[in-house]
Amino acid sequence: MCQILIIYTGGTIGMMSDPKTKVLRPINFEQIMDNVPELERLNCRINVHSFDEVIDSSNMNPKIWSQIAGLIEQHYHEVDGFVVLHGSDTMAFTASALSFMLENLDKPVIFTGSQLPISAIRTDAKENLMTAIEIAKAKKNDRSRVPEVCIYFDYKLFRGNRAFKYNSSKFEAFRSPNYPILAESGVHLRFSVNDIRQPVPGGLIVHKGLVNDVSVLKLYPGISQRAVEAIVNADVRGIVMETFGAGNTTTDSWFTDCIKNAIDNGKVIVDISQCKVGTVELGRYETSKQLKDIGVANGYDMTFEAAVTKMMYLLSQSDDPNQVREWLETDLRGELTVS
Ligand code: ASP
Repeated sequence: MCQILIIYTGGTIGMMSDPKTKVLRPINFEQIMDNVPELERLNCRINVHSFDEVIDSSNMNPKIWSQIAGLIEQHYHEVDGFVVLHGSDTMAFTASALSFMLENLDKPVIFTGSQLPISAIRTDAKENLMTAIEIAKAKKNDRSRVPEVCIYFDYKLFRGNRAFKYNSSKFEAFRSPNYPILAESGVHLRFSVNDIRQPVPGGLIVHKGLVNDVSVLKLYPGISQRAVEAIVNADVRGIVMETFGAGNTTTDSWFTDCIKNAIDNGKVIVDISQCKVGTVELGRYETSKQLKDIGVANGYDMTFEAAVTKMMYLLSQSDDPNQVREWLETDLRGELTVS
């Protein structure tokens, strides 16, 4: 009989409205189980690990990411797959982080949650949960069909490090415009076999302890020198720079000098676009060529979530800025397409 571990971290799926204040707060897993008697009917042994403190995912952090990775490592050889119940607000960050932390994964780690609590009459939670389990246990020729960290939401399976939360009020909460969906659920569960990554031999390697010495520089016309300096001179090792269009920035010399100084002082800066679709092409325009010349890393078509968590992961792997820059530009877990 197949075996699945559900890791419950919190999120709307398991929330209830406080009778007095009317605010939504997470509840314990038993109450979730009470709402899905169908779980008993699955031909599968389901074990549950619930965190002692279940949270709204706005309180998620790298320490809990390490705990999730640790649980997966601990139970890796006992189960066929994992389902992680998580709030949708920061689900794409956790899924991205876990994709980097779990190297050579050959079992599914499927994140899901919902926009309405599982006890709500019109809830989206049941379908999300039941199909996430179906995907986590799906095998062909004795091998997992999706040996990846994924997000399953509203009938679609996304690669975790390619997705982002796009809508806070529709059931269709996630999108992944720069990479095809990995599966779609309807009358049949259809897997996009050619888009799913396959593990390389060698077995799982778990990396815990990400380094959060990271900050973000989001550009806008009129950004002041003072604002840019405050970010690039902060005591961090890595900066994710969100630029315009195909990776462009102002060519004002104060800006280029500021970025160059930071890089010369050992900081790593990666360029990703504010556009949700498309890729960074350093050197395509005059307004990005200077960035390439001074050593800004090309983040290609990475999501913001993937870029931030990849930076945290890489800073934990090397102290050498050139090495971190090289890895940033390399496809490590299917998070970017080198163009
Ligand atoms: N605020 C909730 C959370 O992220 C939203 C959700 O679960 O959809 O925990």
